[in-house]
Amino acid sequence: MTTFVFDFAEGNKELKDLLGGKGANLAEMTNLGLPVPPGFTISTEACRAFLVEGKEPDQLATEIAEHLRALEDKMGRRLGDPTDPLLVSVRSGAKFSMPGMMETVLDVGLNDESVVGLANQSGDERFAADSYRRLLQMFGGTVLGIEHDAFADRLDALKKRRGVIADTELGVEDLRELIAEYKVVIREHTGEDFPQEPAEQLRLCVLAVFKSWNTPRAALYRRQERIADDLGTAVNIQAMVFGNRGATSGSGVAFTRDPASGAPGVYGDYLTNAQGEDVVAGIRNTVPLADLEQIDPPSYRQLMDIMAKLEKHYRDMCDIEFTIEEGKLWMLQTRVGKRTPEAAVRIAVHMAEELLIDRDEAMLRVTGHQLAALMFPRFAPDPERRSVATGMNASPGAAVGRVVLDSATAVEWAGRGEKVILVRKETNPDDLHGMVVSQGILTSRGGKTSHAAVVARGMGRTCVCGAEALDVDPENRRFIVRNGPVVNEGDVISIDGSTGEVFLGEVPVSDSAVVRKLEGEDVDDPVAHAVARLLMHADEVRRLDVRANADTPEDAQRSRRFGASGIGLCRTEHMFLGDRRELVEHLIVAEDEAGQAAALDKLLPLQRQDFTEIFEAMDGLPVTIRLIDPPLHEFLPDLTELAVHVALADERHIEDEHDRKLLQAVKRLHEQNPMLGLRGVRLGITIPGLFLMQARAIAEAAAARVLAGGDPRPEIMVPLVSTERELALVRAQLEEVVAAVLDEQGVELHIPIGTMIEIPRAAVTADKIAHWADFFSFGTNDLTQMTWGFSRDDVESEFFAAYLEKGVFTASPFESIDVEGVGALVRTAAELGRKAKPGLHLGVCGEHGGDPESIHFFDSVGLDYVSCSPFRVPVARWEAARSVLAARASGPGSDVR
Ligand code: PEP
Ligand code: MG
Repeated sequence: MTTFVFDFAEGNKELKDLLGGKGANLAEMTNLGLPVPPGFTISTEACRAFLVEGKEPDQLATEIAEHLRALEDKMGRRLGDPTDPLLVSVRSGAKFSMPGMMETVLDVGLNDESVVGLANQSGDERFAADSYRRLLQMFGGTVLGIEHDAFADRLDALKKRRGVIADTELGVEDLRELIAEYKVVIREHTGEDFPQEPAEQLRLCVLAVFKSWNTPRAALYRRQERIADDLGTAVNIQAMVFGNRGATSGSGVAFTRDPASGAPGVYGDYLTNAQGEDVVAGIRNTVPLADLEQIDPPSYRQLMDIMAKLEKHYRDMCDIEFTIEEGKLWMLQTRVGKRTPEAAVRIAVHMAEELLIDRDEAMLRVTGHQLAALMFPRFAPDPERRSVATGMNASPGAAVGRVVLDSATAVEWAGRGEKVILVRKETNPDDLHGMVVSQGILTSRGGKTSHAAVVARGMGRTCVCGAEALDVDPENRRFIVRNGPVVNEGDVISIDGSTGEVFLGEVPVSDSAVVRKLEGEDVDDPVAHAVARLLMHADEVRRLDVRANADTPEDAQRSRRFGASGIGLCRTEHMFLGDRRELVEHLIVAEDEAGQAAALDKLLPLQRQDFTEIFEAMDGLPVTIRLIDPPLHEFLPDLTELAVHVALADERHIEDEHDRKLLQAVKRLHEQNPMLGLRGVRLGITIPGLFLMQARAIAEAAAARVLAGGDPRPEIMVPLVSTERELALVRAQLEEVVAAVLDEQGVELHIPIGTMIEIPRAAVTADKIAHWADFFSFGTNDLTQMTWGFSRDDVESEFFAAYLEKGVFTASPFESIDVEGVGALVRTAAELGRKAKPGLHLGVCGEHGGDPESIHFFDSVGLDYVSCSPFRVPVARWEAARSVLAARASGPGSDVR
């Protein structure tokens, strides 16, 4: 029979699937001999069973009762005992941390009788009453679904009546009055009284935690973080310890290193006479953890020892929650801490230097997404610039946008394309929608461990929190800076998540230090140096080559500096725009072959020059040049505009033969579905001169480079092939032109001719196509479009939001390869291609070539290289290495994501 409930002493940190992150780590700390209040964990399996069956598994109640009895024995107290009651906390804890998303209820076991026992036993009536009102409030909100404000309003009204500001100023009689009011709130909202029976309280709390897995905000968070929907959460039941028992008690949150900068040294917040949730909610302003050294020296020293021990044990930066109850330290939670991209890099490199981990492990600890975040621009330095306020530098980056004062407005404005900054007193889990769409988040309360800070860091959003000089006034749609200006909703501000500064207006941004370092500049920045060092290691580890998608000499040079080993896709279409558009028009309206040839003759030297410059920039490295791909009408004027223009000319009796012919051509070339129309190889077959002119330009440019002592390595790539016949036909013509040019120039050079695989038919007949191809490059943009039947140009703005919201997929298949569908075609084509032609060179040049998850897939399929935009090249080098390391490490249980 399945066991659903486990004592903390029975688990360990490897059991996150079963016990959730919190439960597994509580077990680990228990077994390390740290001071953890005793308790037990109800497994994720029980939650999954509940979610599937709609009711709790049969033996669950019995198992909980048994473990509760054991806990009571250990503590020497009984739940609900009217003389000396045990109280427990009930906390969710999924495999992957979902901060603030699910439920917690504290002080379970209090009722009208046991509250008296607690008062007698603790000798503190106020504390007992305060705990009871907290239970009513949390139970009411979490278990009974009563909105938070129903309780908060009563508390505020009472404080007003008493003329006090802080909760702590309320006396025991006030709290009793509040308890009576809260009970009324519960009765009014549910029609029933607050359950007095402790076991029933406990049961309802457990079910509420199970159910909280499926709240819309939790589901949204999972989609954001790509956490599977069917994992379920565990529930931890633990003997309560109290941080709210006066001046010798308190609660805190801490990190073993700074989670924002990665600097060594502990970091955290502490709040005297408070429970843990008061710290995280930012309700009162905390003091830095260092102050605890004065407040309670023995506890501080013990805490420092424990933190050092935990970091050594986990070999990673840990974040912890602790409570001090009347001078006794208790550990309530630990986990490997979330961190900013900067911190991830610095901590990984420091730990490698400290020999806590090796360099492979250091690479595994920093994701390509984090590296990409470090390549974003920052605010340009300007000694004259003055901030209007400063808060905590909670999540780095430079964000500029219009002020919005609530999440609904953020969503609305962002939906119409505005860049917004969400400004709140503090955020709560209901703000997630608003945070997702904002450039940055600014709050006036709460520290680096507040909800806003934790969630923003997780999402990679810029965040400044606890800017106390701000009086945020959502009713009047504004915030006021103390001794400073009034900022209205809609005004532009800039926030610097690395320094915590807030600026009025738009501050210009500058390139990241990492980018400057990779570009070869001499920068004085520890993160940039650490990245460069790890990238060198990545190059030693990776199997995949990384090329760039580049079609200008500047991009080619940049990608080379970023470590690309060639160009995997040089799109030639931009070379037909601008001044050259007119030449293309002449080509299209030409009435006979002679007219076409004349237009092509004019284009030839221009193209030759384009290729020469790119070959120079990439001397000694392969350059895959793709022949023209898009439908020709993309180079022509808009039909309506041109029609109006011609009609006006007619009215005025102006003869404009060119425009008239152009109009006919535009009408002739008009297509209902241009993406499925006359483009790619189809153009090469119907207007061969265009492809052949390009082939000649490539061969002439290459020959000239050879003659000038260069080392050009061109490859010609034919797009949009569906059948071997297309490639066979075009290849024969291209080979003829190339051979003729090389012969004319007296140059010997092998120019491979290959094809893109971007149409499903090509993928499934890849063995036949391989016969005519020296290489394949997967065009996963078109392959995704045609496999799903999704228009690349339209669907992302049309209905992807709904698809993501409803969980049809967790990421756009245009961003991250759809392994099951499109990926299967890639795998099939790779296998068929190599079966027909062993050693066939394979690459990918769709957007997916720079996407971290997709790179792991392409590595697993055995492609030779990925090609991506220049800025993604470092990310691709990084992920190609991580893919090798992850595959090596992926014994069972590895969760490198
Ligand atoms: C592709 O389709 O994946 C591709 C690289 O080509 P393009 O995006 O230019 O169509
Ligand atoms: Mg394509």
